[in-house]
Amino acid sequence: MAKQSFYYADPLPLSRTQVKGEQLFGCSALKTKTKHLRLLSNGCRARASWNADVKPLEIPRQWYNLIADLSVKPPPPLHPKTFEPIKPEDLSPLFPDALIKQEASNDRFIDIPYEVLDIYGLWRPTPLIRAKRLEKLLDTPARIYYKYEGVSPAGSHKPNTAVPQVYYNAQQGVKKIVTETGAGQWGSSLAFACSLFGLGCEVWQVRASFDQKPYRRLMMETWGAKVHPSPSSITEAGRNILQMDPSSPGSLGIAISEAVEVAAMNADTKYCLGSVLNHVLLHQTVIGEECLKQMEAFGETPDIIIGCAGGGSNLAGLSFPFIREKLSGKINPVIRAVEPAACPSLTKGVYTYDYGDTAGMTPLMKMHTLGHDFIPDPIHAGGLRYHGMAPLLSHVYELGHMEAISIPQTECFQGAIQFARSEGLIPAPEPTHAIAATIREALRCRETGEAKVILMAMCGHGHFDLTAYEKYLQGNMVDLSFEEENIKESLAKIPQVIY
Ligand SMILES: *Cc1c(COP(=O)(O)O)cnc(C)c1O
Repeated sequence: MAKQSFYYADPLPLSRTQVKGEQLFGCSALKTKTKHLRLLSNGCRARASWNADVKPLEIPRQWYNLIADLSVKPPPPLHPKTFEPIKPEDLSPLFPDALIKQEASNDRFIDIPYEVLDIYGLWRPTPLIRAKRLEKLLDTPARIYYKYEGVSPAGSHKPNTAVPQVYYNAQQGVKKIVTETGAGQWGSSLAFACSLFGLGCEVWQVRASFDQKPYRRLMMETWGAKVHPSPSSITEAGRNILQMDPSSPGSLGIAISEAVEVAAMNADTKYCLGSVLNHVLLHQTVIGEECLKQMEAFGETPDIIIGCAGGGSNLAGLSFPFIREKLSGKINPVIRAVEPAACPSLTKGVYTYDYGDTAGMTPLMKMHTLGHDFIPDPIHAGGLRYHGMAPLLSHVYELGHMEAISIPQTECFQGAIQFARSEGLIPAPEPTHAIAATIREALRCRETGEAKVILMAMCGHGHFDLTAYEKYLQGNMVDLSFEEENIKESLAKIPQVIY
């Protein structure tokens, strides 16, 4: 019989008796009658068999707000018409009060409501896994760890914020949530959360994905959501785009305009965003809080933390608690954001005030942006297509707490294939960027002989993205030369705001 230290008794009075992780961890402890168990991680299970001191891991009870620890605070969002800092009431047509408060909060920690913890318990804590087989394949002295968020029902980190966002809306009596989605990761996470709280859900999905990726749409529909291709003729924003270009492939910026328009016009309807905003990054810090403890249990300190960055939420979620420890002088990891060469907002964009959407309805946010009407080339398969970057992550990057690189997509998929064939997991297109960067770093370690500890964010699986793999495997994936001309045009349309 396994030792008690392999797991912990969940202190939450959950009615659920299901035990997670049998397949993932195959631990005999799970076959006992004990209820509410959580394993630390599969790696720690192995370690726990000879180390009885392993501490049990709980789901974090609080989200961490990095703003509280920054001596220079991020610049405020501005009203899109007056260019003055926005007031809480400006946001109330779109968001419930609790989220508006979190968006502007300077509190260091924010309690996670019981109802949210209860649902997190369906898949959290998520495993931290040492990629020993990838290390061997690369013949590197580096030790590679990945924090895997693909165990959530939607298959990515996004439910970490979808669940609390829908919870706060339900608390305030909101009846319907509208949103945009690109590949469908966010839409499906929100549809899942809405189904748990009994709220209606309508999603504007970028046309190109709507046509090419039916399975994510079917997931959304299975969870009860209604899905429209964007641009649609339902909204004024959509009709305007269709008038200019009837075959527009759509973009996240356009889909956001459509969803925001519908939320602004209906009193019982609010809007949710899956990345970029402060409260989204806040909710994602459960990843990093868990991971800090898991790394400690492995007896490791990361030298480098690598994550892909689209809007910035998964990287922020993993890295912000580590940046807290870095600011307090306890550890000193390099934090590296990785973006696609086809949509490089941190590495090629400008740091300035810009709209979050194409039609210019959202507040102006100071962020790294390629211009709010930038549309990445549709042949780019790797996700991470948003024109901007989270203002808070952009600020942290400007302060020098984070660095950024961009990687072309064929290198990313080559890394993903190596990862799948050594570690087993088939990554979503987005974290292939983190994998490729991790492989670069591990190969550098092979050159220098350094045994660095690399921590990587594995933010989702790619089970519904296999057409991208097909393209790569058939040799049809090409790298795009990034069109500097293309951004020059969209950068020229950024409003000139002096604040
Ligand atoms: C949405 C998504 C991303 C990009 O969003 P971030 O806010 O940058 O995390 C990355 N990976 C996966 C799996 C996603 O679903």
